[in-house]
This record gives sequence, structure tokens and C-alpha cells, in this order.
Amino acid sequence: MTSKPSLSVLTLSCAILLLVSACGGDSKQAQSSGASSKTYNWKLVTSWAPKFPVIGEGMELFAQWVDSASNGRLRIKVYGANELVPGLEVFNAVSAGTAEMGHSAAYYWSGKVPASPLFASFPFGLNAQQFNAWYYGGGGKELWEEAYAPQGVIPFLCGNTGVQMGGWFNKEIKSVNDLKGLKMRIPGWGGKVITKAGGSAVTLAAPEIYTSLERGVIDATEWIGPYHDYKLGLHKVAKYYYYPGWHEPGTAFELLVNKKAFESLPKDLQEIVQTAAARTNIWILSQFEAQNNTYLQKLINEEKVQLREFPKEVLMELKKLAKEVAEEETAKDPQAKKTYESIMAFKKNILEWNKKSEDAMRPYLD
Ligand code: CA
Repeated sequence: MTSKPSLSVLTLSCAILLLVSACGGDSKQAQSSGASSKTYNWKLVTSWAPKFPVIGEGMELFAQWVDSASNGRLRIKVYGANELVPGLEVFNAVSAGTAEMGHSAAYYWSGKVPASPLFASFPFGLNAQQFNAWYYGGGGKELWEEAYAPQGVIPFLCGNTGVQMGGWFNKEIKSVNDLKGLKMRIPGWGGKVITKAGGSAVTLAAPEIYTSLERGVIDATEWIGPYHDYKLGLHKVAKYYYYPGWHEPGTAFELLVNKKAFESLPKDLQEIVQTAAARTNIWILSQFEAQNNTYLQKLINEEKVQLREFPKEVLMELKKLAKEVAEEETAKDPQAKKTYESIMAFKKNILEWNKKSEDAMRPYLD
């Protein structure tokens, strides 16, 4: 609404609004629908470098969409990692209310919320389409909210990388034996799987990956997919590019909102936040799919990268070890166990359906 309401209408609407909430802020934007005219200025902290391709860009768009849908009543300033808080402090900052919102990936909080990797990605877990189905239609949303409730944080699904790549190696992986002694940058449960397979897992932040591989500090690394891996220049320091990314079959991102702050918003702004999160969810995944496609061709045709598929025998062994890791990790915490069981039960059913739908069509889609 842009037209200026008459004084009497405004006074009346303020009087009504005063009964339910403060009628402060810019009265020019008072809504005839009765929505509060109060303007909110919020901070959104992220775990990504400022304007990080796709993910950071997606959150800038999220802020713009919320701004325009709310007629400027909810203004969100997006901060890159370390601009307000370090990237791995995002959850704490939202929980404490230092920032009203955050954007990150849930597996970073496994020390605080043991179930959290299940809400991002875990080895041989769900792909993006399956995760969306579990979240919106299979009880995932409710379990995620339950897991974060004790921290005063409300999560909303907000993006997905799609299937990642298996990573960059300087030797070929022909059998499980080739993983023995391999020093690989691979975080989370994927790292635990590599360790079980006889390798050693290293956690490195993005800026350290290139030089560590170049200097031989690590033998191999995973990062994301063709688009981001190309931008990091990993094809210049490794010979073979392996697929698929068994350890991250579709990493989901989360919009975190401080519960008290969210509840202080009028209903229409709460709806706008949820709607913009869903729009960003599909925007981020779509960008990943579109850019990865383009950059894979670039890597193959221009950079002459040697693409390799992990042998089936290697993937089956990693899958067996991944099941052990998931069961060990989720046995430690009732919420994690409950969430894991929900995902596995959902997956069993959806895989049956996928066989008759997605998989059955796949050979004919070329
Ligand atoms: Ca990754």
C-alpha cells in the first residue's frame, strides 16, 4: 500500500493496533488490512564469504524479496562470515539474539545439536529432491524445529547444493586399498567414513584448501561441485576429478531465526519470511544445477580435467562404513536417533517410488 491514509482512518487503525501491539514506526505505510506499520531492521549473519557465489547471492536476494513483499517493513542486512560474527558462530549469534537471522548448513552444529548433520547432508543420505519431500511432506520440518527449539532458534529450509562432486585426487582410486593412508580434506561424517576406510580426514576452511593441496599437505580434497571448485582453481593442483559426491548427496542450507524475534513479528511478516525462504530454497538449488552444468563442460573441454567415477566396489564399501558411522553417531542422542529413523523410513518408501518414476525415466531423458 502506498496511498496515504486519512488522519482519522490512521488514528483509528493505530488505536486498534495499540490493543494488540505497538503502533510505532512509519505511519505512512499503515495497512488497511490492519497489519502493523512498524518497521523492523534485522541482521542476517552467514557462514559464507560476503556475496559468496550462489549461496551468499541467494541471501542478498532473500533480503530484497522480503523488503519488497513487506513494503519495506522488514529490512534485512546480510553479513558475510566475519563481518559481524565468525562463520561458525552463526547459530550461537541467532540463539543469543545478537542477530535475528542466520544462514548456514546444519552440520556445523554437530557439537551442540547432535542431530544437526541429518538436517544438512550425510554420506549416502538424501538427495535434494528427497530432502525437500521429507522436509515439506515427510515430517522433516517438525523434527528440525523440535531439535532447535531448546536453543530458541527456528529453522527454515533455505537452499540445497544438489549432489556434490567426490573431489580432487592426485592418484587414481581403483580399489578401497587406494584410500589407505590418504590424507583428505573432508569434513563431518564423510571424514569419519574415510578414517574408517584407513585414510585420514582433515578439516580445512576454503582459503586453505588450494595451497594445502598444492604443497602436498593433503593428498585430496572435496569442495562442492564444478562451479565452486572451478572458482577455487582446484583443477590446477589436482589431476583427477571424481564423482559422485557420496559424502554429500545434497547439502541443505538453513535460514535460522531467533524464536523471540520471529514471534514479535506480525503474522503477515512471518508469512513473508517463510515464503521468501521457500523461494530462496528453490532459487539456490536451481542455480547450483544450472552453473554446475556449465562449469563441468568448461572443466572438461577447456581445462582438460580427467574425470573419473568411483568404482562401484569402492562406493559399496564406503556405503557400508557410512551406515556404521550414522548408527554410531545417532545412538548417542535420542533426537538424532529419532530423526535418523524418520529419514531412513521415509527413504525406504521414496526409493520404491523413485524406481518407478525418476529412475525408470532416466535412460530415456537423453
Ligand atoms: Ca562439500
